[in-house]
Amino acid sequence: MSLTLYNTLTRKKEPFTPINPADVRMYVCGPTVYDFAHIGNARPVIVFDVLYRLLRHVYGEGHVRYVRNITDVDDKINDRAARDYPDMALNDAIRKVTESTAAQFHADVAALRCLPPTVEPRATDNIVEMVGIINRLIANGHAYIAKGEQGREVLFEVSSMPAYGALSNRKLDEQIEGARVAVEAHKRHAADFVLWKESSLSEPGWNGAFVEGGAEVSIYGRPGWHIECSAMSHRYLGETFDIHGGGIDLVFPHHENEIAQSCCAFGRDVMANVWMHNGFLQVEGQKMSKSLGNFVTIHELLATEKFGGRSWPGEVLRLAMLKTHYRQPIDFTVKALEEAEKTLDRWYTNLLGRKLALSSKLDNSIVQSLSDDMNTSLAINHLNDIFRSFKDTPFSRQADGGDIRDDDWAAHALFNARFLGFCEQDPDKWFALKKKNLSVSNEIIQNLISSRIEARRVKNFAESDRLRDELVAMGIQLKDGKDADGNPTTTWEVKR
Ligand SMILES: [Zn+2]
Repeated sequence: MSLTLYNTLTRKKEPFTPINPADVRMYVCGPTVYDFAHIGNARPVIVFDVLYRLLRHVYGEGHVRYVRNITDVDDKINDRAARDYPDMALNDAIRKVTESTAAQFHADVAALRCLPPTVEPRATDNIVEMVGIINRLIANGHAYIAKGEQGREVLFEVSSMPAYGALSNRKLDEQIEGARVAVEAHKRHAADFVLWKESSLSEPGWNGAFVEGGAEVSIYGRPGWHIECSAMSHRYLGETFDIHGGGIDLVFPHHENEIAQSCCAFGRDVMANVWMHNGFLQVEGQKMSKSLGNFVTIHELLATEKFGGRSWPGEVLRLAMLKTHYRQPIDFTVKALEEAEKTLDRWYTNLLGRKLALSSKLDNSIVQSLSDDMNTSLAINHLNDIFRSFKDTPFSRQADGGDIRDDDWAAHALFNARFLGFCEQDPDKWFALKKKNLSVSNEIIQNLISSRIEARRVKNFAESDRLRDELVAMGIQLKDGKDADGNPTTTWEVKR
């Protein structure tokens, strides 16, 4: 089975060959923990979770190292901490913001059935590593200390690296012409970026000891964002590793700058062999933004009625996301969630009441689709076919030369579903939870049903139909009948 992946560096699909098949290494940029993660943030977490599962299948569970960082030092965090906890010392407030946001992120992605990465380093635990890399860059002639308006900074000198811009395909001279920011006087080049910046005593900071031209310069300060990922990937994966991933919005400047830092610090041509990026996410055909009012966090989707008037199980969001190829832009809609839920309902229905023996055979069709640059939409179609096939031919599906009984086939479907992160709940629990999660109360349902019975009694059938449609839209299926005395009755159940 050969695995091919699209590489942003070369702009083509290539066969994947790990540096060491016994130790496959992948780094994915994680969240900056100052606010709830939104559904756009969920996409890379889900996409690279599937890749992690696939790599573990191909190379063995103990042979893949997946590192996803937590950025817990950033000016956005400082601002949020000062806003939310004005009476607290800033460092305590920052800890409060980062700890609660990281915990929320973990709860969110667990609900999306994402496996925890092998290592999840925090930026603040890796300051020494960052200062070490910055010193290498100064010593190699790729970085310099300059005094800006906010204090001293260590800056990366982009013109010191001829290959700068290769990932994003931007030439340095074009960047000068197109630079939107005014040239800051202390920078040698407009595109030079911050590695370390001085903090005031009230801002979070660490003592950075740098050596420039033989002299030691001590700057109490904090790291720039890009150096964090160079430091953490180096510490946990080495100077060159196999795969670096993230959202397409990170290609420039974040990933370009990570490459510049890591390659120049360690004298390498390559930081990661394969660079992978997931596409943009829109909501109902529009860019997601707070000003448009269509900004949805993972938590809101899972636990509130903000999106589509109801809450959604994490598996539904996961399936809706994976039905689109990871490199394509995705339009996130209520309709897509409804369709994903219908599919999951069907899968769970097929598993209801079955004795599920252990199975551990991954279907070739699924491995093959995923091996072709992670074609998850095709893999899901195949999974659907597996579920469908045992329903149509309960006792006669041929596999490995023999008949497989229905329950065995269900176990096969279940194993493959779980490989992709689906059907991990007990089927009864799935339907019970859905019933509980209904956004309308029993009382509202009963009132609507009573109104409909009354409408039917006075032969106002238009109104009776309207009420039935309203209930159907809430996921309620009605069943009309008569009681022992011949009076009309209506019972209801949650639509499956
Ligand atoms: Zn990063």
